[in-house]
Amino acid sequence: MLKLFNSLSRQIEEFKPISPDQVGFYACGPTVYDYAHIGNLRTMILSDLIRRSLEYNGFAVTHIMNITDVGHLSGDQDFAEDKMEKSAKTPEDVMAIAEKFTQVFFDDLKALNILPADKYPKATHHIQEQVDLIGKLIEKGFAYESDEAVYFDVAKFPSYNQLTGQNLDDMLLGARQEVVRDPKKKNPIDFVLWFKAVGRYQNHIQRWPSPWGEGFPGWHIECSAMSAKYLGQPFDIHSGGVDLKFPHHTNEIAQSEAVSGVALAKYWIHGEFLLIDQGKMAKSEGNFLTLKSLVDKGFNPLAFRYLVLTSHYRSKLNFTWDSLTAAQNALNNLYSEVSTFDPNGKTIPEYEQKFNDAINNDLETPQALATAWDLLKSEHESADKLATLIEFDKILGLKIQETWENSHDVPDSVQKLVAEREQARKDKDFARSDELRKEIESQGYTLEDTLDGGKIKKKF
Ligand SMILES: [Zn+2]
Repeated sequence: MLKLFNSLSRQIEEFKPISPDQVGFYACGPTVYDYAHIGNLRTMILSDLIRRSLEYNGFAVTHIMNITDVGHLSGDQDFAEDKMEKSAKTPEDVMAIAEKFTQVFFDDLKALNILPADKYPKATHHIQEQVDLIGKLIEKGFAYESDEAVYFDVAKFPSYNQLTGQNLDDMLLGARQEVVRDPKKKNPIDFVLWFKAVGRYQNHIQRWPSPWGEGFPGWHIECSAMSAKYLGQPFDIHSGGVDLKFPHHTNEIAQSEAVSGVALAKYWIHGEFLLIDQGKMAKSEGNFLTLKSLVDKGFNPLAFRYLVLTSHYRSKLNFTWDSLTAAQNALNNLYSEVSTFDPNGKTIPEYEQKFNDAINNDLETPQALATAWDLLKSEHESADKLATLIEFDKILGLKIQETWENSHDVPDSVQKLVAEREQARKDKDFARSDELRKEIESQGYTLEDTLDGGKIKKKF
């Protein structure tokens, strides 16, 4: 039985799907104006873990992840700089930036062995759905228009604070510190649904027609519109980074519930921050790390995945180069052991049970990894260890089967060197034999001499 911490109830709950046949899962995706940093990628690994855990428990999952390519402004103020348009001059520029970073994002997911979502809807491809939703909110009295924008009227939605549990007055107090530019905005915490292409956004590049004039949607409305389109409402699980709880997810809930009268999602799962040397990662701090910056230093992207698995998703993870090195070493040791295992074994129920218990207990990945290591150290047959680890890897996603296969798939050129060396040994030409061993090692393999001849193994 899968149990998950639900941010809405602030407790661990048994997962009960709305429909037993199909689980609807929506994870907030990237804003494609720059590289994803490794903190963003930690959140993506969490969404992968949720999805894999659901499937491991026998649920069929529809997994949707949006691509934000419009409307995400810097900071939470209403009229801030548009992230997508920072370095763009024409609509083609904006599209090219979005296209480039969407591709980079997909490459990162692949490198981290994150299973692809069923659909990656783009905000700019769903403008009509967003306009329709805003229209309905106005109709129902939850939204109003000013000269500059259309706002959600927070005062009309009393359960606005249901996700954060924050006192509404405190939220208001926080919001009042901001400079409110629009004199027709009723309440400082009202948020924008539609920006009109006037004033500050007079020259905004991305713009579409709407009943309120040309403009562009606010960031939050896309997730309400696209989740409803692809998953219906309510759907089962919504996830994202803890930084999205407010305002993004709070506003998604307000929009969706106001218009439909039912919950947006039943379970909300939030992943904690990744810290760098105990500090928050930010471009301005000069510690903005991408997956590429790790790979450039010679790390396997899966070492980062391994590192993420060593901490629980609701704990902050402190990234240091030492911790990544330790993760890489652990992964290499794992691969090195696995590559010696025999095939065709059976899974070991006792270990499977322990592993399932860890995962089903709110995704306790550190415990799950510990179980994998206990198994490696155990006295069981190597074939059974391999079969069990391959089962675990349905969740861990560390490419254990692939590693085993690759380590046994020795290229012809290396096989030929091994045969030549066997001959040299038979001929007692030890100088030649040593030379050939060095050549084999330089190609990434180690050679162990056994009674049956040289046994070749891939180096990790
Ligand atoms: Zn979202």
